Amino acid sequence: MSRLIVVSNRVAVPEPGRANAAGGLAVAVKAALRERSGIWFGWSGKLSDEPAADPQITKAGNITYAVTDLTPADLQEYYNGFANRVLWPLMHYRVDLAEFSRSDLSGYMRVNKDFAEHISRFLKPDDVVWIHDYHLMPLAKFLRERGHRNKIGFFLHIPFPSLEIIQALPHHREVSGALMHYDLVGLQTENDQHNFGRYLRFLGGRNMQDQNLFEIAGRRLRIDAFPVGIETEAFTRIARRVGRLDFVRDFKKSLADRSLIIGVDRLDYSKGIKERMDAFEHFLAANEDWCGRVTYLQITPKSRSEVREYAEMERATSEKAGSVNGDYGDAIWTPIRYVNRSYARPALAGLYRVARVGLVTPLRDGMNLVAKEYVAAQDAADPGVLVLSQFAGAAFELADGALLVNPHEAEGVAAALKRALEMPLAERRDRYQRMISVIKANDIDHWANDFLSKLSSSDEYVLPTDLSGTPTVVARRSLRATTNSPRI
Ligand code: UDP
Repeated sequence: MSRLIVVSNRVAVPEPGRANAAGGLAVAVKAALRERSGIWFGWSGKLSDEPAADPQITKAGNITYAVTDLTPADLQEYYNGFANRVLWPLMHYRVDLAEFSRSDLSGYMRVNKDFAEHISRFLKPDDVVWIHDYHLMPLAKFLRERGHRNKIGFFLHIPFPSLEIIQALPHHREVSGALMHYDLVGLQTENDQHNFGRYLRFLGGRNMQDQNLFEIAGRRLRIDAFPVGIETEAFTRIARRVGRLDFVRDFKKSLADRSLIIGVDRLDYSKGIKERMDAFEHFLAANEDWCGRVTYLQITPKSRSEVREYAEMERATSEKAGSVNGDYGDAIWTPIRYVNRSYARPALAGLYRVARVGLVTPLRDGMNLVAKEYVAAQDAADPGVLVLSQFAGAAFELADGALLVNPHEAEGVAAALKRALEMPLAERRDRYQRMISVIKANDIDHWANDFLSKLSSSDEYVLPTDLSGTPTVVARRSLRATTNSPRI
């Protein structure tokens, strides 16, 4: 049986005595590897001035974890610089926040080449390769340059923006344009797929039999939407059970019969947290009868604090929470509980289930798993209501059951909050049923199986004629030379 090689920026290597890392991507990758023997390759999360030529190997179950360190310059240029300060804002439609530099691009290309170098040394001809996310867009091209004709698929977890926006990315042909070297490119939604298809046509791609199959640079590429899911049944089971935990009981007691609105997001400008607080303020201002009867819990672990825009947003968001609490709260009621720590999934599941409203209003989001988790955690007999941004990828699947809002309009979100808090049981049940059936059908296993079966049935790779050119700005670090392939 062919092996599956999964590649992502970070690898969640299991550590004895530590709970499994539960990031969205880690759950997705584990679903892909669950029933297949395979290797997960990527960054160890550690820095070293001279990374070893051979990856560090850990085996657990049927997964082999193979990780490499990055240098401090890699971290600065590839990760903090190009990935997080250029690609992340730009692909979330925030061209205004993108800060491009050639040295960061060079670092991005260098790390992608180093990854290709590592993978190349253990890749077998019938291995299937699945590369994840915006950190690694040119990786297939660098593998192809090393002669690998394997089936290589790519999944983009974040949005693919419109043609006008992606063209604002300097050297985009070498970065996003390099996606043409995959056999299959998966995107979260039909909108992303449409944008990417338009981009491929702009790059000279021609549609073949159908809109999803392209001929470009002498080869074939399939694109498709694969909305990422969650472990729906497991999540529902956990949410049902954790109600008995002291933590959830104590939390419920602390609400003192007030209705709960919950928001859970990394502190990121794409999540629209400050705008959400503005909307909640509008809601309180317009609905005096709800003052003292509702609590908004916003769980917001800090992320990427070393990037300047994030530090500024951190300050603005906590100021906003403080001013709403100062203006509307009193000695016994704090309208917004704003928490900058992270909670384990089971605790989150318990809190979602207590909440009458899940408030998920990103300004732009590839999918937003919190929206799906909120629905999965509900009690079918007495479910809460999801208020969801039209700009979250999840809106494509949940439009029938959620109250869709434009996060840029505080009054609209405030009106949806009122409607959600006052929605009759029959309507809540009906909306919940429509959402949970989709979330069950499109769970994480379905996502992984669908992608991998389409990748396996994609066409043979044909080496294009123009694969010799490498971007002029790239300087490649040579890995410490060894002649033997690592035994993986
Ligand atoms: N999450 C968590 N603990 C927290 C906050 C978030 O485990 O305190 C998880 C959450 O359950 C979800 C993921 O982090 O699975 C966030 O995924 P999402 O797609 O919503 O946003 P992203 O952070 O990937 O942009």
